[in-house]
Amino acid sequence: MDGLSVEQRPLPAPTARDVVVIVLDSCRFDSFAEAAPSVVRRLGRLEKRYSYATWTAPSHYNLLMGLLPHESPRGVHASTYYSRTFRMWSERFGVPDMLWTDMVPHLWLPRLLRRELGFLTRAMVSLPVLNEHTPLSGEFDSWMSMPTHNNFGAMVDALTFDDARPTFWLLNVGETHYPYAPAHEPASEWPRIHGVHGVFQRLSSGGLVHASEAPRSFSQDRLDALRRRQVDVVRHLDPLLHQLLDRLPPGTRVILTADHGELFGEAGFFGHGPIHHEKVLEVPFVEGQV
Ligand SMILES: [Zn+2]
Repeated sequence: MDGLSVEQRPLPAPTARDVVVIVLDSCRFDSFAEAAPSVVRRLGRLEKRYSYATWTAPSHYNLLMGLLPHESPRGVHASTYYSRTFRMWSERFGVPDMLWTDMVPHLWLPRLLRRELGFLTRAMVSLPVLNEHTPLSGEFDSWMSMPTHNNFGAMVDALTFDDARPTFWLLNVGETHYPYAPAHEPASEWPRIHGVHGVFQRLSSGGLVHASEAPRSFSQDRLDALRRRQVDVVRHLDPLLHQLLDRLPPGTRVILTADHGELFGEAGFFGHGPIHHEKVLEVPFVEGQV
């Protein structure tokens, strides 16, 4: 949002395509797998991948460096994996002669997209820690904080594309974050857990807090019920994801993943953030083209 006009950018490659990255905030791999949303079959294959970070802000920073959740391959040096990962963006963007040296020294994918590849860059985000005043929004043509944390349908309705230039879209989806609530569910029906609910209310008003601040003395029954809610809300998102795919220009590349997982009582943890546990790193990853 720095005033770099569209006219100042290079013309995009004729083969360049729109790309949409959908981040289901806090959606742990096994919640997604259990929900088994049918949209996966339209896109490709569900993979279990691993987030580089355990909470929202660093995970999105990493993503915008071009590093999606990783595969954790054995016997491969990190630099080899990174270069392979970066080369995959060339195919995703439909720009075969893309030079990764153009990423240096900024290491910021949206900058490369706008200044070297002639893309438009846009984001809609649900979580306040990703608001438009954070450095993450740099090099985006538009960056919108959604008025409520859990309305993916409103994002689908607001998606726009341009006939002349491809668009890179980042969508941060909040339904899968605590309290795992679909848009139609009244807040009065959200789970009432002492501490967490108040934390989330403050988050809604812009505070830099998240559910991992919650006390850790919940009963496992209640935590199990919360995990059921995360599975259910993925199922709720499924038709909305189909609607999104229906609205995309033909050839759009889609990546569906999460920024980190969530703990539901394992080893005494709830939530994500300052947690060292493998489940907070396990995320779904699906990639395909419409
Ligand atoms: Zn998150």
